[in-house]
Amino acid sequence: MTALEFSVEKNPAARSETERAEILENPGFGNFFTDHMVTIDWSVDAGWHNPAVVPYGPLLMDPASSVLHYGQEIFEGLKAYRHADGSIWTFRPEKNGERLNRSARRLALPELPVEDFVESIRALVRADSDWVPAEPDTCLYLRPFMIANESFLGVRAAQSVRYLVIASPAGSYFSGGVAPVKIWLSTQYSRAGRGGTGAAKCGGNYAASLLPQQEAAANGCAQVMFLDGETGTRIDELGGMNVFFVRSDKTIVTPELTGSILEGVTRDSIIELARDRGYTVEERAITIDEWRAGDADGTITEVFACGTAAVITPIGQLKAEGFTIGREDATPGELTMSLREELTDIQYGRREDTRGWLVRLDK
Ligand SMILES: *Cc1c(COP(=O)(O)O)cnc(C)c1O
Repeated sequence: MTALEFSVEKNPAARSETERAEILENPGFGNFFTDHMVTIDWSVDAGWHNPAVVPYGPLLMDPASSVLHYGQEIFEGLKAYRHADGSIWTFRPEKNGERLNRSARRLALPELPVEDFVESIRALVRADSDWVPAEPDTCLYLRPFMIANESFLGVRAAQSVRYLVIASPAGSYFSGGVAPVKIWLSTQYSRAGRGGTGAAKCGGNYAASLLPQQEAAANGCAQVMFLDGETGTRIDELGGMNVFFVRSDKTIVTPELTGSILEGVTRDSIIELARDRGYTVEERAITIDEWRAGDADGTITEVFACGTAAVITPIGQLKAEGFTIGREDATPGELTMSLREELTDIQYGRREDTRGWLVRLDK
């Protein structure tokens, strides 16, 4: 099968250079969108068709569209990075394409060939290349997603689907320097259950995490940590980030992929970087009690969360009903910061990409 070829319809109302420069000065995260978007339609009869780059704008949807009722939706998140020579790159996009297809299978959506996924990102970034910021630690955040858009209220997999990619310039995540975050342990709610959709990147998982996220905020915490849904003892992950524990014996522990944990590209990359540095990385169950004990006796020295958006975030303290782990005034761990630097150096072209992780988008 040959890769899809995207038609391009230029946006006649594209922002001026001045307007764009104003936005890129302080984009924040997820606030502004570029002038174009990608759409590809799918139907049972025609398969994937109409690959197009079109002006960014609202979608016309039938109120009976299945995604609006039953949440048949999946998404991805990756970044385009501008290097010092002006070229534009992305990081391991085939991993995101493969994961999109795993999510698609779980949500009974059609799979998009990985090469078409990568090509869809390339087509959008080429149309909107001026939107990739150049300041340190800024990027163009790419959001591919797939929705069921059949007008039908019966409960079954939709026979008509749309895949889209939108892009949003993003400022430096930690504008004031990387600072440890405080996280809240959710004991009442879980993110995923056995046989559920925890390993799929789908909107429904996020919808279910919003109430515990409010609970975290009410307790002065930035993120929620979820335990496994079966026993409520093992650490799964945060609402949108995987977690790592650094031990004093040069081992690093991260929860194993049980089916209820999202397999992060950042997680996978950190495992490889750490192993190449000589660390033993264990993917296994780790309980909240093990963390508590390891924090108390000093065998767990650093804890961090990771994901595409924030790369690596040091965790300073965990607050729970009745106890806390870590300290209010924690400083970022040494290995945490050094892995963060290595990974971002590769992504921004400041260090050689010896593993073939980068894919060029502007050529
Ligand atoms: C996207 C996501 C992550 C991080 O995955 P990356 O590929 O590293 O960005 C972790 N957990 C959840 C629930 C996610 O949705």
